[in-house]
Amino acid sequence: MRHFPEPFRIKTVEPIKVTTREYREAAIREAGYNTFLLKSEDVFIDLLTDSGTSAMSDAQWAALQLGDEAYAGSRNFYDLEKAIQDIFGYRYVVPTHQGRAAEHIMSKLLIKAGDWVPGNMYFTTTRLHQELAGGNFVDVIIDEAHDPTNAHPFKGNVDLAKLQKLVDRVGPDKIPYISYETCVNMAGGQPISMANLRELREFCDHHGIKIMLDNTRTVENAYFIQKREQGYADKSIKEIVREICAYTDGCTCSAKKDGLVNMGGFLAMNDEDFFVEAKAQVVIYEGLHTYGGMSGRDMAALAQGIREAVATDDYIKYRVEQTNYLGELLTAGEVPHVIPHGGHAIFLDARRFLRHIEQEQFPAQSLAAAIFVETGVRAMERGNVSAGRDPKTGENRRPALELVRLTIPRRVYTQSHMDYTAEGIINLYQKREQLRGLRFVFEPKQLRFFQARFEPIAGD
Ligand SMILES: *Cc1c(COP(=O)(O)O)cnc(C)c1O
Repeated sequence: MRHFPEPFRIKTVEPIKVTTREYREAAIREAGYNTFLLKSEDVFIDLLTDSGTSAMSDAQWAALQLGDEAYAGSRNFYDLEKAIQDIFGYRYVVPTHQGRAAEHIMSKLLIKAGDWVPGNMYFTTTRLHQELAGGNFVDVIIDEAHDPTNAHPFKGNVDLAKLQKLVDRVGPDKIPYISYETCVNMAGGQPISMANLRELREFCDHHGIKIMLDNTRTVENAYFIQKREQGYADKSIKEIVREICAYTDGCTCSAKKDGLVNMGGFLAMNDEDFFVEAKAQVVIYEGLHTYGGMSGRDMAALAQGIREAVATDDYIKYRVEQTNYLGELLTAGEVPHVIPHGGHAIFLDARRFLRHIEQEQFPAQSLAAAIFVETGVRAMERGNVSAGRDPKTGENRRPALELVRLTIPRRVYTQSHMDYTAEGIINLYQKREQLRGLRFVFEPKQLRFFQARFEPIAGD
């Protein structure tokens, strides 16, 4: 079997547009060589993100019809709360319209100006909210995570020696929590191991530091633990997810990923005081604490999505193995990319793909634009542009990883879409010398990758 087949059949289809190279050249020029600024209808296969792009099941569509749109006390909230309590095991739930809203509230409540917030690498919105709350982010992920050629099976792990160093330097009182992400997005969708989390729990108990989980991709992470970690082969995905959460004090979650919905998120915790404060904040920024920016039907679809993702192990096996299938094709075509293959995406290594373009000329941005022109596939830059500038020096951050992310929406594309994508990228790799770097023509101050515009630097 080349690839674990889709454990579903297709009931509704959405046509996508086939375009010419000339058409796509004009479209990317108009978009300032930023794939975020392309129109969706000009894209053939959209691998920009797996965020909010999932296909919902028939049961989720049915759930939409059962939305209770009461301002207060919607029955869908109570059902969502129950789904989150059952599956993730946290006591208290605060709904938000998406993940960053949960990050905003958590950062505001837990971080004081001058605090330090360690994390296993950063996520764009997560770190920004930590900084806006006056915190300083410190990366404590293992060194292997910064090396795209290192095949370590759990590149999301925290390096406890790095964490110890931080504790020694600033003291545990200045560290409100560690921000612990499952299937670390910016490292290439790389999982954490249960052994690492268990050790971290011990460390944090000893120093009185909380562990706040970024729960966005815990189901995907559970699959890697089942597949790779000793002692977990016979545990269900549901059991593994529950165990991960049990080692943490609370979480933020973008439900637009593992939650299998187009919009939604939540904050969950075990501490009652934190819950009471978070409920007070959600009313200010999101909406009443029984909807938090979601409509009743959104909460209904999310409750169903959370349950579906772990109902059997087949869905997540298909999902992660489909990503792996694309990675295997690129490996066969000798296209440089991050290994091991992540859960939600394959990350091309733009440094090695475009050795002739230096990092200040944004090779990953240039590669994402070229993939679109070559194939109609939309990818995303995750490198120098995404990393932004250091707030103190104003210099580009120049991250070690200069990547282009091919992100697979859940239950949306088939194996032949993966075949087409891989073939196009392999073709482009063969003529990579023709690609040129880019320079900014417009650079936003924050989260610049979303709206920045570029122009090509002329060749010789
Ligand atoms: C998407 C994502 C977020 C932010 O969530 P939004 O729903 O996009 O606001 C936070 N953390 C991780 C790991 C994510 O992938």
